[in-house]
Amino acid sequence: MPKPSLSKDEVKAMLLQVADRIIEAEPMLSEADRNLGDGDHGLGMARGMNAVKEKLAGEVESIEKAFANTGMAMMSSMGGASGAIFGTLWRNGGKALAGRDTFDAQGLADLIKAGLEGVMTRGGAKPGDKTMIDALHPASVKAQEVVSLPLNEAIIAVAAAAADGKEASKAMIATMGRAKTLGEQSIGHPDAGACSVVVIFDTMRDYICA
Ligand SMILES: [Mg+2]
Repeated sequence: MPKPSLSKDEVKAMLLQVADRIIEAEPMLSEADRNLGDGDHGLGMARGMNAVKEKLAGEVESIEKAFANTGMAMMSSMGGASGAIFGTLWRNGGKALAGRDTFDAQGLADLIKAGLEGVMTRGGAKPGDKTMIDALHPASVKAQEVVSLPLNEAIIAVAAAAADGKEASKAMIATMGRAKTLGEQSIGHPDAGACSVVVIFDTMRDYICA
């Protein structure tokens, strides 16, 4: 049944599904990073997501903690830029949901907005630099537009915006992040972090809409 909102236990189940799907996607994410960077992104994300599965194994206290603990587990297990950036996405996003007892389309918009702001502050990249922000920023813009929809309808639009953003990142010249030294040679490939963002939102959509 498509879910118009999620309870904290459903948020936890969704995040565990995200973890499994990122782990399954490791070869694709590694290949994407080899095309533009040092190739470590897939294994780093998989390591982070194994730590998330351990961290979320017990009782989850709140929606805020489910997301924030996901971020903390990634930060403490991954190392490197991706650990800091994806960890900040979930931790800061989760903190924006303090006191909420359901996760709805407004929560989705608030999660992504706070996560994006944290990532931009921490990493220093902006839209158009060919980083994960090129998938995350359009997802945030779309999420703000669909706050009045049921969550199951909102997440379809948000996941599509992230995927479109990832596709658009192929044509960008990297000026920040993993591929900045490649310049014009970075044209034609999507950013690996943007690929991870798409896996995350696609999995959230699949869980929420199933
Ligand atoms: Mg790398």
